[in-house]
Amino acid sequence: MIIRMSDEASGEERAQLLALLGSVTGNQHPISTTRLDEREVIVLDGSQVDEQACKLLRQHKAVESVLAVKTAYQLVNRAFKPEGSRIVVGDALGGNPVVIGSDGSEGAIAVSGPVIIGGPCAVEGREQLLAIARAVRDAGAQVLRGGAFKPRTSPYQFQGMGIEGLDLLAEAREATGLPVITEVMEPDLVETVVSYADILQIGSRNMQNFPLLLAAGCNSKKRPVMLKRGFAATIDEWLLAAEYIMAAGNPNVILCERGIRSFDTHTRNVLDLACVPLLHELTHLPVIVDPSHGTGRRELVPTMSRAAIAAGADGLILEVHPDPNSALCDGRQSITAEELSGIVREARVISEMMYRSAGLSRVA
Ligand code: PEP
Ligand code: MN
Repeated sequence: MIIRMSDEASGEERAQLLALLGSVTGNQHPISTTRLDEREVIVLDGSQVDEQACKLLRQHKAVESVLAVKTAYQLVNRAFKPEGSRIVVGDALGGNPVVIGSDGSEGAIAVSGPVIIGGPCAVEGREQLLAIARAVRDAGAQVLRGGAFKPRTSPYQFQGMGIEGLDLLAEAREATGLPVITEVMEPDLVETVVSYADILQIGSRNMQNFPLLLAAGCNSKKRPVMLKRGFAATIDEWLLAAEYIMAAGNPNVILCERGIRSFDTHTRNVLDLACVPLLHELTHLPVIVDPSHGTGRRELVPTMSRAAIAAGADGLILEVHPDPNSALCDGRQSITAEELSGIVREARVISEMMYRSAGLSRVA
């Protein structure tokens, strides 16, 4: 249940409302209010509130509206924002602004075309990153990716360049105008990464790292967060993880499907593209697809990129390397900038076709 507070409520009326909520819920949970889009909201597990209490809440002077949401996830539910979220990234740190997501006027199809994010799995050095950043921009991608802190399965593998890698990402943004996305793994590093990155990435392994989700939700600049699906996470678990970020006050959440684990070893993961149209039904948050981690094989990346756009993805995130075979991380699934430029072209054509067949026209 989502209660929107009235802007005109006096301090006394607010206190009365909080007391009423306390008695309605049996004072079992602290009542917390969140500021989202300049409005104050209170979110409760709807099953705690009966019809009678709901009526009292609707009539209360401090309440503007009460929305009964039937799922455990509330703020991320499409019922809260039927029009869909458009998230502006990249304008705060000097990069080119990019809009991710659809505002609903064009159905489930991204408003300004799919957003393509490209770059190396890991930042490996200055030359490497600047060369890739330029190539990625020239290929038509709008955002640069690159891991500075890498979650690696083995402690003996390259762990990323750390802060030095963040410095290089900032330099690459300055050189190309591309906003940058990079992973943050620790709550204590969130503010550091916020000062460098346009989008914070929370990786698959950390999807249910609740202190990290809260820290990303509370980040001082409301920097957008791209939340990758845990490799063994159900869609509800994923949406509830996104709910943690929103409930902490950050409405700028982007979901990223990157494949889930199964029994077959031919692909690294099973890319769940059915989740894309499903998520558009369940949530207002934009959905990005990662065919690199989703397949683990570069030869499958172009086909699955086309499929992801056809399924309604708002964008793609792709691992790109000038010499994939010598990449320090995830070379097997990395493509070249030339291959990226083909994917960008195809993604635009498919999205344009979907747009037109929906009877819409895009303003260039
Ligand atoms: C990555 O993007 O390089 C990465 C580690 O992704 P994931 O968390 O999806 O494995
Ligand atoms: Mn990777």
